[in-house]
Amino acid sequence: MNDYKKIADLLYPNITKTPEDWEKQYPARNLPEGTEITRFAPSPTGYMHIGHFFGANLDYRIAKSTPNGQFLFRLEDTDKKREIVGSDIVALKTLAYYGIVPDEGFTIDRTNNGKYGPYRQSDRTEIYQTYAKKLVAEGKAFPCFCEKPEGKQEVLENREQQLTEGKQVVEKDPCRKLTLSEIEANLKAGKKFCIRLKSNGKEGDKVKVNDVVRGVREVGANCKDVVLIKDNGIPPYAFAHAVDDHLMRTTTVVRGEEWISTWPQHVEIFEALGFTPLKYIHTPVLCKIGENGNKRKISKSKDPEADMRFYIQAGLPQEAVTEYLLNIMNSNFEDWRAKNPDANVNDFPFSAKKIGTSSPFFDIVKLEDVSKNIISKMTAEEVYSRTLDWAEEFNYDFEEESKVRLGADYKAPSVNPAEFAMVLKTNKEFAIKTFSIDRGTAKPRKDIAKWSEVPTYFNYMFGYFNPTSLSDYDYDFTKITPEVANEFIFDYSKVYSSADEKDVWFNKIKEVAERHGFATDNKLYKANPENYVGNTADACTLIRLAITGRTNSPDLFSICAVLGDNLVQQKIQKFIDVLI
Ligand code: GLU
Repeated sequence: MNDYKKIADLLYPNITKTPEDWEKQYPARNLPEGTEITRFAPSPTGYMHIGHFFGANLDYRIAKSTPNGQFLFRLEDTDKKREIVGSDIVALKTLAYYGIVPDEGFTIDRTNNGKYGPYRQSDRTEIYQTYAKKLVAEGKAFPCFCEKPEGKQEVLENREQQLTEGKQVVEKDPCRKLTLSEIEANLKAGKKFCIRLKSNGKEGDKVKVNDVVRGVREVGANCKDVVLIKDNGIPPYAFAHAVDDHLMRTTTVVRGEEWISTWPQHVEIFEALGFTPLKYIHTPVLCKIGENGNKRKISKSKDPEADMRFYIQAGLPQEAVTEYLLNIMNSNFEDWRAKNPDANVNDFPFSAKKIGTSSPFFDIVKLEDVSKNIISKMTAEEVYSRTLDWAEEFNYDFEEESKVRLGADYKAPSVNPAEFAMVLKTNKEFAIKTFSIDRGTAKPRKDIAKWSEVPTYFNYMFGYFNPTSLSDYDYDFTKITPEVANEFIFDYSKVYSSADEKDVWFNKIKEVAERHGFATDNKLYKANPENYVGNTADACTLIRLAITGRTNSPDLFSICAVLGDNLVQQKIQKFIDVLI
């Protein structure tokens, strides 16, 4: 028996399994050629970041675009110092909210679903140590007894650039020379050890790395004796990734571009282990336009939209977020959507090759436009039930919470969601009629982007518009004075009837308007505007103001019809009260 083998046995006397045992336990999946096995592998360090969610969506789409493709969820909880209890569940719940249910993996009840588990890294120590033991036995890795071994690893600034420039850090650890008897003595003295890779890299060595999207690059090879197993027996990312993705039979690794810099390490670890290299896609960082107009990363500390809870709490429909992400993920999505306006997003022929490499802009305004379009196509019943679901779910002190969670700039709804949920429930028929206005037509109104806007948007329908002064009305009373407005609206209130058909209703407006000096013939008005107080549109605006408080609203006739005589008269009376 050579010394390496003896050292391996000394270090890991309790590891009795061999890599072959694990290979047998987790056999190749035997799937059709081209089938993709992807995995989302978050570290449980807090809420889910939009960038991670972007990656998870990619994983999911890639797997689902191939026959029998599998999408796995693996919990990478090896860094116990950074762990935030509960974030595993947050990640799974967030995925589920967006309809992404892993085929295999760690589950919401903290068990394992699938034959390639356990899927939580802290439950896989024996597996990692088996492979570390094998590398030690082959002389490809060695124990290091130095204190704070990880502290010896230099932290590289701007790694990506260094990698591009081919700069390498050569770091051969002195512990690689330890003899069997020295190791034995250290172990007897109770010294802790980590396991390091005995890197074969020499300065100037190059290695080819191939990213499915970015293409092949030649970069500086790894020249560092990197840590494979920390002194607590647990591997850092590089080694865990190699062992897990090999044994789980992953085909494509989708991960953030921050991993590009350490990629050569992964290449050398895969080589040492004799594993077949995998396909990689490194996702770009999502950016936004910063305060100074420059492009910058979406930041956890500055941007509420970095946190996936933002979208859920604001009530942005899942479909909108998914669709928007596809928009920025695949350059041909927009064209496809234009040609297939009503198709299900899952029918989109997703292609990993069409993912961009430059940091995409995550534009919340565009996302809201996508959302408005999607909501405009929903039925009134759907708008009702989804608004109600949102209002019931966020029935805490929304305003306070939203400031904390969504950022100070976020305009919280003026209405408490819990209260609004009650209003919706007790006025179901009325609410559905309200949501039916300008909906179900060839050109539905695209006005609502998120459920949290509904109470404020329809405040005048649900009793939340209670003006006490003229300034509560969104109108500049200089063109039409309060006196003229008052006389007109008072007269109009006498003729309004909710029983009128639309043309009768409109003719009545014109009649009253004419009596009060408004032009009902727009040509005449345009020729001599000074002869009139305004035109029919101005008269309608006054009625719209009385009813909604605004100059712009969904169809006024329908609004009045849904409100009915009493409410219309009450609103006109309130308007009159503040006008005089
Ligand atoms: N736990 C790693 C992360 O959250 C996973 C990287 C990977 O997907 O390989 O960044």
